Amino acid sequence: MEETRQNQGGIPLKTGSVTVPSAMYESINQICITRSPEEGCGVLFGYPTDAEASEFTVTGCAFLKNAASDSCRRFQFDPVEWVPIVMNERHRLIGTFHSHPVTSAFPSEEDLSSEWSCLPVHVIVSLLPSPNWFAYANLQPNKNHSTGFPRSEWFNGLNIHISPQA
Ligand SMILES: [Zn+2]
Repeated sequence: MEETRQNQGGIPLKTGSVTVPSAMYESINQICITRSPEEGCGVLFGYPTDAEASEFTVTGCAFLKNAASDSCRRFQFDPVEWVPIVMNERHRLIGTFHSHPVTSAFPSEEDLSSEWSCLPVHVIVSLLPSPNWFAYANLQPNKNHSTGFPRSEWFNGLNIHISPQA
């Protein structure tokens, strides 16, 4: 039996979804709690489940060091950890996750325009007051998102399905 969690915040929720195994959901929450007050961060592995790439299945994740100088307010992957993952796991890399220790799970301007935003799937874990997730898909991964267009054309909020452990 799958549990559906509705998204919060201003990104339109359409028909897409991301499915995450329950054990991974719990371990991402735990690592984000452990790393607080710093933002926890990492990458997601998996694949799109449909041709329109609006449904995604996450099959794995890697926790990465937050190398940002102000790591309580933003995240930055450490190139020493990040580059080998890109090189080795390029075909499985589908997205990122990071936590917001003291704010809602709604993405910041920086989240929406970061260098990582070219990946299709993004999860934000708010710890306020206890772990809750917001997920969104990047619909136009090749565009520069720092200027121009209405956000609703770039991003699609995703329903989050927590699947029982396979
Ligand atoms: Zn953020």
